[in-house]
Amino acid sequence: MNIILLGPPGAGKGTQASRLVEERGMVQLSTGDMLRAAVKAGTPVGEQAKAVMEAGELVSDAIVTQLIDENLAGLAPEQGVIFDGYPRTLAQAEALDSLLAARGRRLDFVIELDVDEDALVERITGRFTCAACNTPYHDRYKQPVSAGTCDVCGSHEFKRRADDNEEAVRTRMAEYRAKTAPILPHYEARDIVRRVDGMASVAAVSKGIDAVLDG
Ligand code: ADP
Ligand code: ADP
Repeated sequence: MNIILLGPPGAGKGTQASRLVEERGMVQLSTGDMLRAAVKAGTPVGEQAKAVMEAGELVSDAIVTQLIDENLAGLAPEQGVIFDGYPRTLAQAEALDSLLAARGRRLDFVIELDVDEDALVERITGRFTCAACNTPYHDRYKQPVSAGTCDVCGSHEFKRRADDNEEAVRTRMAEYRAKTAPILPHYEARDIVRRVDGMASVAAVSKGIDAVLDG
């Protein structure tokens, strides 16, 4: 199964993707995580992306599509994929269609997390992740079960993102509305879009997604 998780920053894409990885053995391909790794490693792609990401703007379609292509290339054909944060423009959606077709993969669902933008700023400014495995947590909504220890990998180090501040978040929301939300009709025409209420608890959102995947 291949799915896209779609929703504005803070909608819960990463949270749900990491759960699906654990529970179903799917692979999460997050262009945000790939870009942050490139910035950290100081690669040419990272050098190009750093300032754009800090401002909350979109990195070029060519760069992110190249990253997705490289990561898909390493996967076994039967390995299910969750696209998290990609595609974000119509050009990326079209590029993904070609990449998947070239590998004989089919897109099963686009799951749109339906959220209220005002609540997202609080979600994002409270977000932190495991420094070792990227599992997302939240100051109020999702603390590790044992304080200071990652539930998934046991690491004791956590980090916060440079772009998780109110100003960059507002730009990211505007980018989502202007460039990403308009890709929905591309998938609606194929009848693969499913909406899940992203304002519910993490457990309830998980249930909504499972109902789509298992339905
Ligand atoms: P969030 O989880 O908050 O939605 P991401 O981690 O997916 O954010 O992305 C962080 C930043 O990385 C974006 O604001 C953008 O600058 C860049 N980025 C990630 N994915 C893409 C993409 N598919 N196209 C363009 N830019 C991207
Ligand atoms: P995205 O990848 O879409 O940007 P994340 O999965 O990183 O979003 O979630 C953003 C923040 O909100 C994280 O700190 C996460 O723990 C928290 N979060 C995710 N889903 C929910 C939810 N359903 N209710 C409350 N907080 C949530």
